[in-house]
Amino acid sequence: MQLRGTVVSPGETRTVSTRHGERDLAEPLIRTADGEFSVTLWGKWAETVEYLQSGMELVVTDAEETEWQGERGFATTRESYVIVEPGFLVNVTDVRSWVQCPRMYYLNKLSGVPLNYPVVKGTIVHEVFGDLLRGADFEAAIDDRVEEAGLELGLLDRDPEAVREDVRQNARAIDGWLSQGTLNAEDSWRSEYTLISERFGIKGRADALRRGMPVELKTGKNTNREPRFPDKIQAACYALLLEEQGGVSDELETDGGAPDTGTLLYTKNTALDRTEEAGDLSPAKEFSIGRGLLEFVVRTRNEIAAMEFDSGVPTGYESNAKCEYCFERDTCMVVSGRLDQESKAGQIGSALPEREREYFDRTYRAIERERRAAHREYAKLWEQSARERAEDDRALIGLEPAGEELREDGRWELRARYDGAVSKIREGDVALASDGDPINGHAELARVERLGAEPRSAEKSSGQSPRDIVVSTDEPVALKRLDVYPSDMSASGMLTALHDALLKGEQRRKELLFGDASPEFETVDEEFIPNNAAQNEAVSRAIAAEDFALIHGPPGTGKTYTIARAIRALVERGERVLLSAFTNRAVDNALEALSDQGFTDFVRVGTEHGVREDMQPYRLDSRGDPEELARTLREAPVVASTTSSCGSRVMREQSFDVALVDEASQLTEPATLAAINRAKRFVLVGDHHQLPPVVQSEDEASEDDTVADLSRSLFERLIDEHPDAGVMLERQYRMAQRIQAFSSREFYDGKLRPATGTVAAQRIGDLEGISGDALPEKLRDSVVFVDCAGDDAAHTDGEEAARIAELVERFVEAGVAPGDIGVIAPFRAQVATVSRAIRDGVAVDTVDRFQGSSKEVILVSFVATTPADLEGPIFDDYRRLNVALTRAKKSLVLVGTRAALEVDPLYASVVDWATDP
Ligand code: SF4
Repeated sequence: MQLRGTVVSPGETRTVSTRHGERDLAEPLIRTADGEFSVTLWGKWAETVEYLQSGMELVVTDAEETEWQGERGFATTRESYVIVEPGFLVNVTDVRSWVQCPRMYYLNKLSGVPLNYPVVKGTIVHEVFGDLLRGADFEAAIDDRVEEAGLELGLLDRDPEAVREDVRQNARAIDGWLSQGTLNAEDSWRSEYTLISERFGIKGRADALRRGMPVELKTGKNTNREPRFPDKIQAACYALLLEEQGGVSDELETDGGAPDTGTLLYTKNTALDRTEEAGDLSPAKEFSIGRGLLEFVVRTRNEIAAMEFDSGVPTGYESNAKCEYCFERDTCMVVSGRLDQESKAGQIGSALPEREREYFDRTYRAIERERRAAHREYAKLWEQSARERAEDDRALIGLEPAGEELREDGRWELRARYDGAVSKIREGDVALASDGDPINGHAELARVERLGAEPRSAEKSSGQSPRDIVVSTDEPVALKRLDVYPSDMSASGMLTALHDALLKGEQRRKELLFGDASPEFETVDEEFIPNNAAQNEAVSRAIAAEDFALIHGPPGTGKTYTIARAIRALVERGERVLLSAFTNRAVDNALEALSDQGFTDFVRVGTEHGVREDMQPYRLDSRGDPEELARTLREAPVVASTTSSCGSRVMREQSFDVALVDEASQLTEPATLAAINRAKRFVLVGDHHQLPPVVQSEDEASEDDTVADLSRSLFERLIDEHPDAGVMLERQYRMAQRIQAFSSREFYDGKLRPATGTVAAQRIGDLEGISGDALPEKLRDSVVFVDCAGDDAAHTDGEEAARIAELVERFVEAGVAPGDIGVIAPFRAQVATVSRAIRDGVAVDTVDRFQGSSKEVILVSFVATTPADLEGPIFDDYRRLNVALTRAKKSLVLVGTRAALEVDPLYASVVDWATDP
């Protein structure tokens, strides 16, 4: 049986005499759904209690029930595994680093992967490995993959021919092995296999599987007969994951159970000179994977999960780490010195002042909570049924495979039909494509290329509206289900940014961030924007800032235009500018504004999927001639990328005079640091009365003052601490006077006002071909409240949806184009309900998707029919409501249940305002 519970008390290890001799045991007390029990952990499993803490989750597989002096209990058996905190998914590569030295795992996490030649070469060789397994031509694969890494190689000043030769030498080991007869036609192969283990709390991507056995590639040399121990551990991790994944066994002709052999391929061995090197020069080294090794893997994984439970920091003493041979020694000593941590390698440098140290610790904890929240999302992959996940918008299920094709770029294009259901999955996302079972079946990481065309209205009413899904993967899979793939990449990026800011950052910057200094400004007399004093002042401040400036841009105030003007002015002064934002959309909008102002000397960094079509010509492809690509990036006066890309190993090599960050109020502090770390000065642009940063672990964090509050952006903090560094753009060019009135009064102290009389007086009848009189009288006002009794379903309201559909028809009949109309709903379920009810061409989405855009006509669905619905805030918080109410230019129609909304003071004042002109 499998035992699962929460640790009440860990207990201690002791040694007892048994009929098999002396044995260690420990007896933690755990609480399960059936009560509290003592669990006897025998042998090596007894070591678990050395790091076990109350409150941790503990799982014992194949446990046996025991009885001792009338007390029921449980004990491990020979088949048991003991798993600590199984919900924390440990990466296979992290298990490997931990085995080398636990502190190395911590350092890797903190300082990220740097741009260096061994890392880039390793990636190229791995790609070539996959290509050769898929039958690619040897030379063509090398040429292609070296070209693909052009930008990174260029930044490292590497000669492509020398790299090709280097890769060729490594790839010979692979090619030689493949053609040596080690394999034959019956061998079954897979490259790059994604594995997630619910049972053991491990995830990873195996380099390759051969007959269901793991094969790992190492670009180093190894002249011993045996693979290196950490390498064995890595392969053993995959064996453990494969044991759990029954589907692989069938497909790859294994007989079930854990694979008993692993192979390590040391590619550099082929390049060694036999006259100079002694030992075993064969690249492929096999080893047997016994039960003891698998148990060791689980115990190691448990140590990591336990360390992450209380965010403790490893010292290196936990293992037999040999610091004198360690590549990380310098980093290790510096980090130890700066953070005053104990380390086996010792410390160098002075410790951070107390205040910085406290900031580091609080922010570190907050980021790790975010990581855990991402892991909880992973756990939902197996905790929820397929239907529950679909209902929760986390999966598209019941897909019908509709073909697969191997593309020229070596990736598989998979197609499937689906019923048009909504989910959180969007085009461009990385999702988990599977044969229906992402955990125990066959799953591949997929890029969502297309989520189908809009269904025709006639099909919508029946609920049957087949659409095509197109995804791309490294390997084909029967595409029957697509799941949101939760990623802890953003947590990793934030941690690296925190490290760079605190441990490597300039002292002046830190004084500013920690309130020990105030920002300074030069005097600038030039006029940049003649007809808008606040915009002009904002550009002046951006240029005059010796440290930082803040531009507060409420809805429709020409923030993007101002950003573009400021960038031009900075470039005219010879400054190199990093333009960044939370979303790709904002980055591309700012570039479009630059281009409209006649400036196109910029480089866009981003993926092909992330960058908008019109900005593709400016996108820096990473493929091509190394020297040319590196020069293009290094010499560009303006480089634009999202803040998450600012943490990439390419961007971390870049430096700028000024970083200008849009949507800064939507970014957590460490996410903002990722961009501003790259520059001497910075300008943050945002509006803290619109969407706040998205924080998954918000509820728990707010209770604990040892954890930073990531939901408060750096923009908001600095605007509170240094109001003089900020300029608010006060004149808005979007909304009619009456539409903007509520927002101006409630959120902007009445300062927001229309830029011109025309903006203030605009009406729906001003649109070409439209007569305001053609609208029913009720809809002629700029702001209208429509009382709708609604139904009592949670998160959806069919009645409201039907009413909205009717109202949309009235606008269309009056001549408004569907493309000029938008509908905002607080929940995705209501977005789906409204989408089904209304005609094509009308944009229907959540507030988050509408931020940054506007429509002539906006209808808002509140989905609150009883006062109880208001207990969970409808639009999350007032800032979402502000966004919803400020998207319309000429006509805003609010549809909701008056009696329910009037219970809450804020919504009551919204209803009041919308009802009484
Ligand atoms: S220097 Fe020593 S303690 Fe530090 S990471 Fe390397 S082996 Fe571990």
